[in-house]
Amino acid sequence: MEDVLIVGAGPCGLAAAIACKRAGLNPINIEKGSLVHSIYRYPTYMIFHSTAERLEIGDIPFPTPNEKPTRQEALQYYRLVAAREQLRIRSFETVTGTKPMEDGGFRVTTSDRFGDAHTYETRNLIIATGYFDNPNRLNIPGEDLPKVSSFYKEAHPYAGLKVAIVGGNNSAVDASMELERAGAEVTVIYRRNELSEKVKAWTRPVFESLVEKGRIRMMFGSVVESIGEKTIRVRTGEQTVELENDHVFTLIGYRPDRTLLESLGVEMDHQTGSPQHHPETMETNVPGVYIAGVIAAGHRANAIFIENGRFHGDLIARHITSRHGWLVSR
Ligand code: FAD
Repeated sequence: MEDVLIVGAGPCGLAAAIACKRAGLNPINIEKGSLVHSIYRYPTYMIFHSTAERLEIGDIPFPTPNEKPTRQEALQYYRLVAAREQLRIRSFETVTGTKPMEDGGFRVTTSDRFGDAHTYETRNLIIATGYFDNPNRLNIPGEDLPKVSSFYKEAHPYAGLKVAIVGGNNSAVDASMELERAGAEVTVIYRRNELSEKVKAWTRPVFESLVEKGRIRMMFGSVVESIGEKTIRVRTGEQTVELENDHVFTLIGYRPDRTLLESLGVEMDHQTGSPQHHPETMETNVPGVYIAGVIAAGHRANAIFIENGRFHGDLIARHITSRHGWLVSR
C-alpha cells in the first residue's frame, strides 16, 4: 500500500511529491507523458512570464542568466529537481481509473507505454493532472480539419502560408509574432475589442507596432464562424468575410479535465466550476482525495498557475501527516 499516489508530474505534482517526502511520506507520481509534460509541449522558444524564483519548487534555486527563464531552462530545472530529490516517478504511464476501497484507501489502475496494466493501492490520492490536455473549443464547423491546431510549437513549417490565429492572450500574441518573423501571412482574430490585459508588458508594444505597420492583420470584435479546406469565414459585427487560409491555430485557453475526480465522487462547485475542496488542506469532499495545481481552478483556469499552485503540496502534506496521528499509526 502506497502512502500517497500523485497523478501527474507537472510542476505542481512534483512540488506535492517533494512536500510529502519532506514530511516523512513516500509518494509516487504516475505521469502519462514525460516529466513536466505540459511544459515539454509548450512552444519551443517560449519564455515564461514569471521570474525563475517564482517557478522554483522545494526551495531549490532555479539559476538563470536571463530575466525570465526559457522553456528549455525550465525543463532542465525540473529534471534536476526530480533527480536531486530522488522522486519516484513512473513516466509514460496513464492513470485510467480510480476507485475507493471498502476498507479505506483507493485502488488506482494504470496502463504503461507498452499497454500493460498495473494496479496500485494507496491511502491518499493527489490529483495534479493540470489542464493542458483539454483545449477550449470553438464548436464551429470545420474545427476538426487536420489544418486546425490547438497547440503551437514553432513557426518554420508555416513560412509563406496564410495562417489565422484565434485568440488575444499571450499564446496568440507570441505565436503571431514568431509566425510573422518566419514569413507567414498572419491574421489574428479575437472576439474582444482589445487584447487581454494579461499580455506581457514587453510584448504588447512590439505586437501593436507590427499591427500598425500592417505586418500582422488584427481583427478585433470578430469570431470565426466556420473553417473550410482553403478558407475561413469571419464575422465582425454584421459583416461576414471569407479569407483565404492554409492553417488555423485556436489558442483560446484550456480547461481542466475532471473525469478522474468525478469518478471518485468529488463534487464540483456550480458557481466556480472548481472541485469542492478545503482551501487550507486541498482535500476534496472525498476524504483522502486531494487536488494540487491548476486542476483546482474552475472556469478561471488562469487563476492558478505554477507561481501559486506549487504551494498546494505543502498544505496537503501537512494535512495528511496531522490527520489521526498518521505517522504514529503507520
Ligand atoms: P501540468 O503542468 O499540466 O501537469 C499535469 C500533468 O498531469 C501533465 O504532465 C499530464 O501529462 C499529467 N496527466 C494528466 N492526466 C493524467 C493521467 N490520467 N495519468 C497520468 N498523468 C496524467 N505559469 C506560471 O506560473 N508562469 C508562467 O510564466 C507560465 N507560462 C505559461 C506559458 C504557457 C504557454 C502556458 C500554456 C502556461 C503557462 N503557465 C505559466 C501555466 C503553467 O504552465 C501551468 O499552470 C502549470 O503547468 C500547472 O502545473 P500542474 O502541475 O498543475 O499541471
